[in-house]
Amino acid sequence: MRTPIIAGNWKMNKTIEEAIHIVNEIKNSLIEDVETVVCVPFTSLKEVKKELAGTKLKLGAQNMHWEESGAFTGEISPLMLKEIGVDYVIIGHSERRQYFNETDETVNKKIKAALKHNIIPIVCVGETLEQREANMENEIVKAQIVKAFEDIEAEEMANIVVAYEPIWAIGTGKTATKEEANDMISFIRKTIMDKYDKEISDKIRIQYGGSVKPSNISEIMEQSDIDGALVGGASLKPDEFIKLISF
Ligand code: PEP
Repeated sequence: MRTPIIAGNWKMNKTIEEAIHIVNEIKNSLIEDVETVVCVPFTSLKEVKKELAGTKLKLGAQNMHWEESGAFTGEISPLMLKEIGVDYVIIGHSERRQYFNETDETVNKKIKAALKHNIIPIVCVGETLEQREANMENEIVKAQIVKAFEDIEAEEMANIVVAYEPIWAIGTGKTATKEEANDMISFIRKTIMDKYDKEISDKIRIQYGGSVKPSNISEIMEQSDIDGALVGGASLKPDEFIKLISF
């Protein structure tokens, strides 16, 4: 039995003051047995962590470097996130791949660094519209998964979450149909089974992301292979996010 996980990706939104307000709106509306995560900007992590004390709401970052320290101007290390008490980190979001040259190789390094520091990576994969129109989505996503998990040991897979986010559905209002999302997520599970084994592929949690909102969360969560959602836009509005976690 996989515990559902709903994570909000706030992206580059909200000041510290606004972040505190949002988490205070949602922290008392959590649902038993639904793991809930807020991935806030770096600047708000420490203050938000304080607000979450005594609640089950988990804290996530949206990126990190793979080195612990060094001459990497502008970067944040796993040690720094661990010091704050971050539980999760989004790795390889398509916006980072698209605008900040994130590659499958850097994704792999970051996953290893997160695991080393006991931060659970939410590993994002997904195809572009052109790739889907050319019927290449399985090939693309399989390659992303295989490269992301290169040299990751079987026992470490229990500490990883995958998010399937078709790029054409992110922030566009266009959601993959529930069948498209479930088919790809089953395919990801099979790819993980082929690399590891059935026990691991049955256990790993795989989210769908891409224009998830209160009106479509139920049908997404009803799918056999979908274990949760990574949510952008709708996670910024407390009332919508509360509806999402109460799917
Ligand atoms: C995301 O940023 O991961 C995302 C899925 O965004 P949105 O829900 O706004 O499409």
